[in-house]
Amino acid sequence: MKDCIFCKIVAGEIPSYTVYEDDVVKAFLDISQGTPGHTLVIPKKHVPNIFEYDEELAAQVFSRIPKIARAVKESNPDIQGMNIVNNNGQIAYQSVFHSHFHLVPRYTANDDFGMTFKDNSNKYDADQLKAIQESIVAKMGD
Ligand code: 5GP
Ligand code: ZN
Repeated sequence: MKDCIFCKIVAGEIPSYTVYEDDVVKAFLDISQGTPGHTLVIPKKHVPNIFEYDEELAAQVFSRIPKIARAVKESNPDIQGMNIVNNNGQIAYQSVFHSHFHLVPRYTANDDFGMTFKDNSNKYDADQLKAIQESIVAKMGD
């Protein structure tokens, strides 16, 4: 897609530190290196966000992530774990609108990555949870 920075990386018009590539995905170092080894996995096909994947593309992309994640983890003995993050929409911190999965190696509790959400479980009773459940199930489709 024209004017998409990740399509330009796929096309080789913008250089990247590629760590894996095949006909479906490209994996390369995130320029920000939130933690050392921070890698992005993207479909080569331009897909803006997770809502636009069909099942086949999802299967193809997701099936490649464990192998790439293992290689990143095994590249550095200091890596203790990994957060895999996929932002969808500006409100959810997406800044590049070509879908991508962040592989963020974790080293210590105080490294440069954080992810928090509140525990609001005390604010929901069973009826409220059931109403939410039903509204989602109603949209599930096939
Ligand atoms: P988002 O905020 O959309 O989830 O993540 C986009 C990521 O793309 C950011 O972490 C940012 O550092 C990375 N990024 C943006 N432009 C480039 C680029 O030209 N090259 C690389 N390798 N990463 C980029
Ligand atoms: Zn694109």
